[in-house]
Amino acid sequence: MKNRKITLNEHEIPEKWYNIIADMPNKPLPPLHPGTKEPIGPEALAPLFPGALIEQEVTSEKWVEIPDEVRDIYSLWRPTPLYRAYGLEKALDTPAKIYYKYEGTSPAGSHKPNTAVAQAYYNKQEGINRITTETGAGQWGSALSFACNLFDIECEVYMVRLSYDHKPYRKVMMNTWGAKVFPSPSEATEAGRKILAEDPDTTGSLGIAISEAVERAATNEDTKYALGSVLNHVKLHQTIIGQEAVQQMEKAGDLPDIVIAPFGGGSNFAGLAFPFLRFNLEEGKSIRCIASEPASCPKLTRGVFKYDFGDTVGMTPLLPMYTLGHNFIPAPIHAGGLRYHGAGVIVSQLLRDKLIEAVAHDNVEVFEAGVTFARAEGIIPAPEATHGIATAIHEANKCREEGVPRTILFNLCGHGNFDMKAYEDYFDGKIVKHELSEEEISKLITELDTPDV
Ligand SMILES: *Cc1c(COP(=O)(O)O)cnc(C)c1O
Repeated sequence: MKNRKITLNEHEIPEKWYNIIADMPNKPLPPLHPGTKEPIGPEALAPLFPGALIEQEVTSEKWVEIPDEVRDIYSLWRPTPLYRAYGLEKALDTPAKIYYKYEGTSPAGSHKPNTAVAQAYYNKQEGINRITTETGAGQWGSALSFACNLFDIECEVYMVRLSYDHKPYRKVMMNTWGAKVFPSPSEATEAGRKILAEDPDTTGSLGIAISEAVERAATNEDTKYALGSVLNHVKLHQTIIGQEAVQQMEKAGDLPDIVIAPFGGGSNFAGLAFPFLRFNLEEGKSIRCIASEPASCPKLTRGVFKYDFGDTVGMTPLLPMYTLGHNFIPAPIHAGGLRYHGAGVIVSQLLRDKLIEAVAHDNVEVFEAGVTFARAEGIIPAPEATHGIATAIHEANKCREEGVPRTILFNLCGHGNFDMKAYEDYFDGKIVKHELSEEEISKLITELDTPDV
């Protein structure tokens, strides 16, 4: 029998998260105050996040201890399996060895609970009773609902209107774990009411939903805010993925030449790639780490490196990042995630320093890749995850053309069992190629009046 599945025992769950900042040649630039545009310290984040997470946001300690209680909850679904994709290799007739780390075994069906559980834990430790957040495709909202329920914390989710209408079952999932879900923009906040007054039919955006969730936390004493991507502490928590994968690749007797992950704000990419990037930074290895983004939201491949807000209204600190501008509203094509205007600070700096790479794929290409994968390997990938698969297929095809048997590892960061509407649209020919035009991009970027770096 082939050794398809490389597993670890519960006691092999890593005991520490890896903080790549310690190893970065150029550290990320400081955040700026949204009003004064002066550098701010960690204390500016205190209204939104508990102290322990703020400390993790700014620390340059290389290893951060995972609390026992968090590791214990991780063991509900971790360590997650790493598969050798024999079926996909055969379907592609490639000499490449393809591996994937599968994060869809978590209760919420993606990598997001890795940070949701940690965030809920630290909030509970500091006596917080309510957490607000936004969700796009619904993955983060469900992960946080699951985690808050474990710690008996109230969870309030602002869900981008387009997804709220397209993905009713994600909402019901959140309700099952006890969360309250609002379509965003909503009447529940000042920010939501203002945007609705200007454009009552808006399909919403992550930037708008963030404005709403942040407002709720900033104006209520017992309430904090949680973000499922982008921030340093989120990336830190996700490194559990790559550290397990390093152990599993060692077990398989292989080291990847190429590590690939889909890219929204950068958390699952960071999670898988950073522990491998460590070998490049520490030992001079040259593992290629590639982030895969949608051509309809190409901040890494076609955005600018600039200070920008994390939200639409401009309430968050200004962060130095690759961005399409905080006024970006994704085309209402399908609610597939990965449609956030900016990239996390660490990943942005790494890309600027050419320590990682980025590629973009159009909608049709990624669904083709998703279906190819489902037919070869069985698991139906989340639409977000199909972007990484498209890159893996592209690299595996190059191996065939060049006759070079490279080892490829990608992150299958979630299953698509709640995304059948998107697959149905694809089979019905309703998923069309969509690329942001040069004009649209230059308009967004010219309008962006935030500070340069
Ligand atoms: C949220 C999500 C993403 C995008 O967010 P990242 O922070 O870039 O990982 C990708 N895939 C899945 C399945 C998600 O839930």
